[in-house]
Amino acid sequence: MSKSNPQSSLNRRDAVKMLGLGSSVGLLGLLGGSAKAASATWEEEKAKNTYAKGMAPVTITKVRAIACAPHGSNLVVVKVETSEPGLYGVGCATFTQRAEVVVTAINNYLDDFCRGRDVDNIEDMWQAAFVSSYWRNGPVLNNALSGLNQAMWDIKGKRAKMPVYQLLGGKARFAVDCYAHADGKDPQELIAQVQKFMADGFRYVRIQQGGYGSLYLAQQPDFKDAGYGKNTDQFMDSRAYVQAIPKLFKEVRKACGMDVELLHDTHERVQPMDMINMCKRLEEYDPFFIEDPLSPENRGWWKQLRSSTTVPFAMGELFNNPNEFVQEMADHSFDYIRCHISQIGGITPAMKISHLGELFNVKSAWHGPGDVSPIGHAAHCHIDLNIWNFGIQESIFFSDVEKEMFPGCPELKKGYLYVNEAPGLGCDINEKLAAKYPINNHAGNWTIRKRDGTIVRP
Ligand code: MG
Repeated sequence: MSKSNPQSSLNRRDAVKMLGLGSSVGLLGLLGGSAKAASATWEEEKAKNTYAKGMAPVTITKVRAIACAPHGSNLVVVKVETSEPGLYGVGCATFTQRAEVVVTAINNYLDDFCRGRDVDNIEDMWQAAFVSSYWRNGPVLNNALSGLNQAMWDIKGKRAKMPVYQLLGGKARFAVDCYAHADGKDPQELIAQVQKFMADGFRYVRIQQGGYGSLYLAQQPDFKDAGYGKNTDQFMDSRAYVQAIPKLFKEVRKACGMDVELLHDTHERVQPMDMINMCKRLEEYDPFFIEDPLSPENRGWWKQLRSSTTVPFAMGELFNNPNEFVQEMADHSFDYIRCHISQIGGITPAMKISHLGELFNVKSAWHGPGDVSPIGHAAHCHIDLNIWNFGIQESIFFSDVEKEMFPGCPELKKGYLYVNEAPGLGCDINEKLAAKYPINNHAGNWTIRKRDGTIVRP
């Protein structure tokens, strides 16, 4: 604080606000101070300008992880506690396959880094934390950073007494249009699900046959007969997959019509030429988008993929930094931004990617399945409400346990997600209940092999 009378200092600030910048000369006379005294006050203001003007200074006192698995998927939440009694923020840092490592990054590194720092300077904190380890841009540290960033936006909203979407610029739509997940072992099972979602009001449905890589299509793979790999390793038959998906679209279109938007996720597991051939066959069924058609190693194939088919694409789940979107957006390689906000670094970089996308007519489609906590889903919704180039939001149905564990989580009605109007992200965590659902560190084996046992890269 200033060494001068705090009340006098406050009055000066209020007077500056009232008079505006143009009245600074008259202000010196009004306050009865000399130019020297005014200068000293400015120096004092500068010395404490990390704090929001007119608001009590608040610093971070503790950053800690809360890990839980209410429905089987490991979730990690960051809680940021502050010097103001009762004021805290929460954010999603979920990396479901390596949850315990993120917990360590938060509790053993981020906590110490953040203590004593200003809760208001979100951008500065993001930049500082991002480079503080020197090596950067990876999952784990990025997840921890994402949780911290979302929690700081939550605190910012609570301090401003506004929902986060208001701080981002207010609403650009009344609610968040979503897609639901349909997954069946065959087209008939899947069609029944699509029809149910349509009856419930959904306009967009993602269709998968046997999860990723159409595992239900596969027979017992030779590598298992040979005793190669582990029992839990999965088999992907690429040929069966690229043959089955166009047939699946055909059957669903025949049964459900052309009005419903259909999406599909390839999870980067198909070779580029196979992807091109499959997408050419999908064109007549008018998919909304095909997700993650190329693995990060195959990004050089964008030009050929794009020039070969008119199917729209979503991309970016495995991207780690906004810079990874720049060239592909400039080249119009894909149509939808597909990234995990709880991994890309939080709301701050997601907004930068969104605005970059607006300039290139690329829309949002944030990653939002069950391995995002309801707090992370709330973060999606606040961004989705604000950005002009919103595309679509992946959604899930929260169980009763999740609703109790994460009070205030977004509500799904007729295929739209709604946030509540509470200040901040509007979603909290019940730590006592979360403690009853501990994480499972073995949930992350996503090993998928070809028939001969070769690892398939996502
Ligand atoms: Mg995906």
